[in-house]
Amino acid sequence: MEKDFCKKCGDCCKQIFVDFDNKMLYFDGIQPLSEDFAQMLVPIGKKGNLSICYCKHLKDNKCTNHQKPAICNQYPSSPFAYIPSSCGFYGETFIKNEAEKQKIRKLKEEIIHYEALLNTTANKKEQQQYSRILKTLKARVDKYSIYGSEDW
Ligand code: SF4
Ligand code: SF4
Repeated sequence: MEKDFCKKCGDCCKQIFVDFDNKMLYFDGIQPLSEDFAQMLVPIGKKGNLSICYCKHLKDNKCTNHQKPAICNQYPSSPFAYIPSSCGFYGETFIKNEAEKQKIRKLKEEIIHYEALLNTTANKKEQQQYSRILKTLKARVDKYSIYGSEDW
């Protein structure tokens, strides 16, 4: 069973990152910004091309929204959740995030291995087989490109 590290501080509702131009929410990972969630947000600043928002339902550090979106109840479930350093889940999320990055690094090692095999065989069947494997491995790495997997 997951531990509840929540300190009920409300900090995660004070700094929500949003790309309004592309309708993307940087909260429990990165996902499309729903109309309902957008309605709750009050922009208070900018960081690069992202807006930093405050949720209008937060009063005295407590959520007053009795019909809060499911994502608020789940947060932070993703290893790529955007969380303040004060959050009780910070350490746990950091460890999960590192574990995901480690998986991607292993995939990259496999890519190097199969690229070497591909470059050293003249056998057409083997070339096709290695190319197929490489395509699959690269697609798995690319799935995380939104989180910067090319630099891991
Ligand atoms: S920032 Fe973390 S500890 Fe604070 S309310 Fe949000 S989930 Fe809980
Ligand atoms: S609805 Fe509640 S839990 Fe969700 S962001 Fe707003 S204040 Fe936080």
